[in-house]
Amino acid sequence: MAVSDKILKRSIDPSVHQMLARAEELGLETAWDRYEAMLPECGFGELGVCCRNCNMGPCRISPFEDAGPKRGVCGATADIIVARNLIRMIAAGAAAHSDHGRDLAHTMLLTAEGKGGGYEIRDEQKLQALAAEYNISTEGRSKEETALALARAVYAEFGKQEGPIQFSRRAPQKRVGLWQKLGIDPRGVDREIVEIMHRTHIGVDNDPVNLILQGLRAAIADGWGGSMIATEISDVLFGTPKPTRSLANLGVLKADEVNIIVHGHEPTLSEMIVAASRDAEMLALATKLGAKGINVVGLCCTGNEVLMRHGIPLAGNFLQQELAVITGAVEAIIVDVQCIMPALGNLTGCFHTKFISTSPKAKFPGATHIEFHEEQAYDIAKEIVRLAVENYRWRKPGQVVIPNDKVECLVGFSTEAILAALGGSLDPLLEQIKSGAIKGIAGVVGCNNPKVQHRGPGRGWT
Ligand code: SF4
Repeated sequence: MAVSDKILKRSIDPSVHQMLARAEELGLETAWDRYEAMLPECGFGELGVCCRNCNMGPCRISPFEDAGPKRGVCGATADIIVARNLIRMIAAGAAAHSDHGRDLAHTMLLTAEGKGGGYEIRDEQKLQALAAEYNISTEGRSKEETALALARAVYAEFGKQEGPIQFSRRAPQKRVGLWQKLGIDPRGVDREIVEIMHRTHIGVDNDPVNLILQGLRAAIADGWGGSMIATEISDVLFGTPKPTRSLANLGVLKADEVNIIVHGHEPTLSEMIVAASRDAEMLALATKLGAKGINVVGLCCTGNEVLMRHGIPLAGNFLQQELAVITGAVEAIIVDVQCIMPALGNLTGCFHTKFISTSPKAKFPGATHIEFHEEQAYDIAKEIVRLAVENYRWRKPGQVVIPNDKVECLVGFSTEAILAALGGSLDPLLEQIKSGAIKGIAGVVGCNNPKVQHRGPGRGWT
């Protein structure tokens, strides 16, 4: 298949080149096409100098020295408008990731009350450690009773009016002291997010530095609160990841099996889809319909959750979601929240693929909505898997193009796994840093964007 220079510039990954060429051949658009059609993007938006926070606007500040307005109708300068826009973005991101943590706390609460439809406490040791951190006595308590007390304690972090958020005390004392000195030691997760919305309302906080400091306070509330709660509770419920080998990239899709993609963010749904795909009844149904098995693969963060805990292969990252559908080999793409392109509705309509949304918070045009409730988790997951398996008969083998590209990966490096590898203490690592053999450690977290050349697994994955 011919690959144009335009496609080569979009990604360094051969599987992406192949699928973008296939999209062109079929006349299908992708995020790259839509981005290029958008150019030039709005310069005011790019600089963050456009404000529509009240009905006197929208206002926009001219970036040119000698031309155009330098203040909004209310008198806001470029610095004020940029700071307000930036921290509203922080509020949205913190709300999304922290709400994920809240949902996990809810799942643990239901599980502890015996109402979780198939969930269980998998890492009791971690449960005990977290309970100790929260000063929850475990003496004479069953693991469910401890989990209930812990779930209530972490749930309370969201609506707290006065801090501190417990996990924020894991930060070094010096760091906490700096937060306190700057007045950015967070109180409750929700409070900091709400305060951003208040401060950025017309005529409230108009000091750019003060605005940015509140953005930092909400970011800390998310990082050391909501997001950390999500990680810790996921480990208690689903097990703490250990180093595991698996495969990644679009080549993990299989031509002779039912392919189910789990896409989105939260492990509550994807864990159950994995369990239901191993159900003997579902496997027998797949065989009856001519498939050799059921192949669950992941995309984005929920894919990572099942990759690091079960070694479920990863089909790709954010920009590969449309390409996976374009293979023509996907029976169902099942989504929950975050990073799901609304374009999937139209795209899946061009294939036999079922696009199934599950969260009451996230509905999409063209999707079949099967609402997921933790209380009936396994039953709902099985219903979704059944739909996917039954859809196999509508696959058109002549339309299937799966790139022959997958790489081995080693995943599952949780804090506990790293500590275990170091013999139970960080000292060997700290010694190497002190001696200068290791210059530093950086965490790189984020997703890709068609503005930057795409990298796939094994080739500078982003
Ligand atoms: S808040 Fe000020 S800058 Fe923003 S839209 Fe209203 S008047 Fe314009």
